[in-house]
Amino acid sequence: MSIPSRAEASAEPFTHKGLTYPFGRRVPEVGELIPLADGLGWARLPVPGSLKHVNIWVLDDGPGVTIIDTGLDISPCREGWEALLAGPLAGRSVTRVIVTHFHPDHIGLAGWLTERFDAPLWMTRTEWLFARMLTADRRDTPPRDAFTYWRAAGWDEARIAAEAEKGWGRFSSVVSPVPVSFVRMREGDLLRIGYRDWRVLTGNGHSPDHACLIDDSGGIMIAGDQVLPKITSNVSLGLSEPEGDPLGDWLASIAKLKTLSDSLFVLPSHGDPFTGLHARLDALDHGHRDRLDALYAFLAEPRRGLDCFGILFGRAIDDSSYGLATGEAMAHLRRLELERRAVREVRDGVHWYKAV
Ligand SMILES: [Zn+2]
Repeated sequence: MSIPSRAEASAEPFTHKGLTYPFGRRVPEVGELIPLADGLGWARLPVPGSLKHVNIWVLDDGPGVTIIDTGLDISPCREGWEALLAGPLAGRSVTRVIVTHFHPDHIGLAGWLTERFDAPLWMTRTEWLFARMLTADRRDTPPRDAFTYWRAAGWDEARIAAEAEKGWGRFSSVVSPVPVSFVRMREGDLLRIGYRDWRVLTGNGHSPDHACLIDDSGGIMIAGDQVLPKITSNVSLGLSEPEGDPLGDWLASIAKLKTLSDSLFVLPSHGDPFTGLHARLDALDHGHRDRLDALYAFLAEPRRGLDCFGILFGRAIDDSSYGLATGEAMAHLRRLELERRAVREVRDGVHWYKAV
């Protein structure tokens, strides 16, 4: 008996937890473009960590192609692009690069690609500004606000010192220079790409003005990280807006996406293309609300952000995901505060939340 390679893996559709995966377990190898629909191809780039990959969408656009999302600026992603550009995309020009949101696994090679093909970058304005701001923010040590944020969540001094030791500006280490000019996408815009029209629909909570693209007549949604089939997108109370409400924004975005057709073929940035949009949105919504309820019960005694990891994640959090887990815990606590189910008391810079 031999183990089938991924290329031979079954393309038989299957259904799991209410979602159907029309392409089964078939996923693109490095340098491969799987046709998903007329003029629409699926490629995948490797990224480190638990994510493992990011999906890239390639749309026919006249003689050239429009690229959606780009991977990190690291050699495995550059090599993945070289394989695509020498293989299935050989001889094609790039008419534009669209980036769904500013996170490095999406915008990382946008500058490199737009430079190489003399192509414009298309984004929403806030996402472009965030990317420009973060790539420009280089300094030797973390700003004071970062220490304030870590202390608020309950980090001990040893962890804060270890984090500070890593310096500041890791964003620009995996993102090629972001173009100084861009083409703005706005909610409701209709983008003609090839013979398809894509409607821009924005969401937030995972990032400030995340663009999804909907081909209403073709029944296809390019979802970015706004809805993922298996994992939940990180929703973090961020350093840039520590009094914000990302989880409230995220839940509102889920409700907004529920107004879309349930029959859309959804192309997520991580995981496999699927149908069953409403089932997935319901599961995401219920997951967060269940965790808010569990957290509420846990706040019978005053708790800090880091005390809540067990309740929220049900597993130990290692150092590599400590920052994301902290942001997620703080987002849930902040939401309970805004729902007036918890109050916050600040003692020596540490934020303690208690149920009311
Ligand atoms: Zn992502």
